[in-house]
This record gives sequence, structure tokens and C-alpha cells, in this order.
Amino acid sequence: MSENASAQPITLKNGVLFVPDHPVIPFIEGDGTGPDIWRASVRVFDAAVQKAYGGKRQVEWREVLAGQKAYDLEQNWLPQATIDGFRQYLIGIKGPLTTPVGGGMRSLNVALRQMLDLYVCLRPVRWFKGVPSPVRTPEKIDVVIFRENTEDIYAGIEWEAGSEGVAKLLAFLKQDFPQMYQRIRFPESSGIGLKPVSREGSERLIRSAIRYAIENKRKSVTLVHKGNIMKYTEGAFRNWGYALATREFGGQTYTWDQWEATKADKGEAAANAEQKAALAAGKVLIKDAIADIALQQLLTRPDEFDVVATLNLNGDYMSDAVAAQVGGIGIAPGGNINYETGHAVFEATHGTAPKYANLDKVNPCSVILSGEMMFRYMGWTEVSDLIIKGIDGSVSAGTVTYDFARLMQGATEVSTSEFGNRIIAHMG
Ligand code: NAP
Repeated sequence: MSENASAQPITLKNGVLFVPDHPVIPFIEGDGTGPDIWRASVRVFDAAVQKAYGGKRQVEWREVLAGQKAYDLEQNWLPQATIDGFRQYLIGIKGPLTTPVGGGMRSLNVALRQMLDLYVCLRPVRWFKGVPSPVRTPEKIDVVIFRENTEDIYAGIEWEAGSEGVAKLLAFLKQDFPQMYQRIRFPESSGIGLKPVSREGSERLIRSAIRYAIENKRKSVTLVHKGNIMKYTEGAFRNWGYALATREFGGQTYTWDQWEATKADKGEAAANAEQKAALAAGKVLIKDAIADIALQQLLTRPDEFDVVATLNLNGDYMSDAVAAQVGGIGIAPGGNINYETGHAVFEATHGTAPKYANLDKVNPCSVILSGEMMFRYMGWTEVSDLIIKGIDGSVSAGTVTYDFARLMQGATEVSTSEFGNRIIAHMG
């Protein structure tokens, strides 16, 4: 980790990322098992970069502090220098962090997302051959979920039952919206939360999902919502999504709305023919699904889902449910991104697993696959492809950490660091 004089920050110019050959990338190694995982991961990253570019490109990893390590060294869970580091260098990666107990910050992850306005939570979910899965055809699952990260009931606007805030809200509703007030079944003992869903917030999320689908030659974007019940929030998300697809991506997409309009005008056969021609021409299908049905269909007909764009709470449930289907809940990667500013923080989705800290035991794949996403975001796709090849090879050969080994017949259990070695060896 020597400081390289030629290392430079990644920048964004006119909406396009500029990644120098020697970019500075800040990292948080994480608490608990974080250091074990980071040691293995960074070796995998450096090996993949070296193999892909033969020394022409190299990452300068720069450690920034957060979580327990930051608290122990600086009595601050999330030092300003860390936030400034992510601001300055645009793209960073982090391991799992201990959630501070007892007031202050709700979660360091949430704080970082809010401070950098990282409005997309990106969760790609795919199966690696050999990974134990609870479903019969996990290979059919290859979904990329765009979860809105800043709004919805998840924004944390809520008041405790019996509090002054609830009393004020109830008084206001009773006075100005008596019909709404009557819908509150037990006003005396209700806690109350608010669910803001804006047009700007929905559009920037859906725009990112559609762009991703077009750039990565994906077939469809499904807008997942509960608009049948929550018409002005989730229903609006759906409607704003269709309008945006037509307005901004008209030439590259075909929407379910269009299909319905043609059907009403010319009949179902004509609508089907129109859709077939659009898809044959490579257009991305924009459709929608009610969240509960979508969760069922992701189990029963997963190959009908490709890119998903959804609100914060739906996305939270859906990301973990689909990750479980591919046996990947312990290895699922995530990215938090603001495509306008370029800021992105890629992260492990599991916690710090403190009982395994310093045992060189746990699976490093959540951070390694977060790195895979990060390099793809940077445009270093050769590195990402090598990482996938390495993981594929090691898992298929049955050399895996304890969590997979206990579920796979005939597997060889290896340590975190040895798993890293095997991944590197399988890069070819
Ligand atoms: P956890 O750390 O995710 O651990 C729960 C269990 O998941 C572990 O006991 C282990 O299962 C399995 N596991 C987690 N990471 C694994 C890995 N790398 N390889 C293999 N198995 C793994 O959840 P927790 O114990 O509820 O949370 C611990 C701390 O992490 C808390 O402070 C929490 O707030 C924090 N947290 C942080 C993040 C984040 O930073 N993104 C996310 C969630 C939680 P087995 O026991 O079956 O082996």
C-alpha cells in the first residue's frame, strides 16, 4: 500500500466517469471479521488488476476509518476525514461495520448513504455453480435490483405512540382531514410514520435502472410497487416510471402502457405483434408488477425478471429474499450509488459476525463481489470478469469456506485467506 506519486482521484466530467490508470480508492476494512475479509479481498483485487492489465493499471488503496476502529483511535464512529475521503475520491469500498449502540447514529451505513445522497442501492443477484440453494433451478435467477435508498416509509420519519409528535399530528388530522383521522383504528395507542415518495426521487432511481438495462443489454425493467393500495406513493412511482421511460427513452424501450394502448385501439393480436417487433429490435421492455405477486413470481418464474426498479421497503425485502434463493445471503454484494455525482460506496451486505473475528474463517465473497461491482462501475470490466471466473472456479471445485462447506457434499473447507488464494489460482 505504498503511496504512489502518480496516483490520482477518479473524477466525473460531463456525467462521465474518468478513471486514471492509478486511481486512489478509499476503503474501510470493517469491524469484527472485516480485517480478515479485507486482507483476502484486496489480494484478489490486486491479482485480478495485475492479470488484466499487466502492471499498466494499479489501484492505490487508501484506508479511511469508520466504526469500532475509528472510535477506538479517534473516539468518533464516522470521522469527517472519512466522509471527505469518499467525497473527494468518488468511489470507495467498505466491509461490515458495528452499529453503535445507544443513541447518536442509527447506522453508519445509513449515515454514509444520506451524507453522499447515494440514492440507488444496487443489488445484483446471480447463482454460482455449486452454491447450495433452497430452490430447484437457481441458475434461472439473474436479477439486478435497483432499490430506492432515500425515501419511503424507510426515511425514518416516525413518532412514538403517546408522544407529543403523535398528539400534534392527530390533532392536525382531526381538524383538517377528519376522514383520514377516522382511518386510524386505535389513535390513542398508535405510533405514526410518514411515507414520502417524490417524483424526482422516483425518476432518478428509475432512470438509472433503465440506463443500466440499456447499457448492459438486459431485456426488461420491472417496476415493482404496491400501487393498487398506496396509489399516491407507490402507484405514482409506477406512473412516473412509465412516463419517464416514454419521455426519455422512447426510442430504446417498449412499455406495457404502450401495449395496453395498442390493445385498446387495435386489439390484442396487434399489441402482441408490436411488442414482439420492439423486443426483436433490441428495445428494453418496461413493465410493472405488484410487490407481493413479484415476490411469488421471483420464486416460480424467475427468468421473467431481469432488472427490477423498486421503492425502499419493497427493495429491502426483495433483495434478501432473492439472494436467499441462490444461497447467497452470506455472500451478496451491494453498491450505493449516486449516478449524477458519480459517488459510489460498494459494501458487504452481511454484518461483522464478531464471534468469528480474527479466526480467518468466514466467507470473503460479499466484499470480493462488491469489488467486482466496483470495477465494473469503473469500466474495468476485465478485472470483474476475472474475479467472477475465480469465484466460479473455486466454488465449482468445492474449495469453499465453512458456511458453504457445511451445506455441500464432498466440499473441502478452507480458510478465508486460502479461499482468496484459490480464487486467484482459478483466474487462469
Ligand atoms: P451478521 O454479522 O451478519 O452475522 C450473522 C450470521 O451470519 C453469522 O453468525 C454467520 O452465520 C453468518 N455470516 C455473516 N457474515 C458471514 C461471512 N462473511 N461468512 C460466513 N457467514 C457469515 O449479523 P449480526 O450478528 O446480527 O450483526 C453483527 C453486527 O454487524 C451488528 O453490530 C450489526 O449491527 C452489524 N451489521 C452491519 C452490517 C453492515 O455493515 N453492512 C449489516 C448487518 C449487520 P453462522 O453463525 O451460521 O455461521
